[in-house]
Amino acid sequence: MALQIEPCPFCGSQHLHMVVHKMNYSIACQSCRCRGPQKPNQEQAVMHWNETSRLHSACLKQMPTTTATPGHPMGQPSIKLKPDYR
Ligand SMILES: [Zn+2]
Repeated sequence: MALQIEPCPFCGSQHLHMVVHKMNYSIACQSCRCRGPQKPNQEQAVMHWNETSRLHSACLKQMPTTTATPGHPMGQPSIKLKPDYR
């Protein structure tokens, strides 16, 4: 296989699949449901996905205090907003 798809930059999953839109393709993660950019062909979709993956993992290495939350029940990051009591 000429094109190798990097694991998901957000959750590290390798359960990725190609999503075919009307005229475009994108890579989607089946674990956290994130999506790569839509591109006119499969090669570009994979290339951009890999680029994002590399950039993101480089980013994580620079910020060791930022940790992902593996095994989140919803598979998505949760943001809890607390009311600002004064
Ligand atoms: Zn993912």
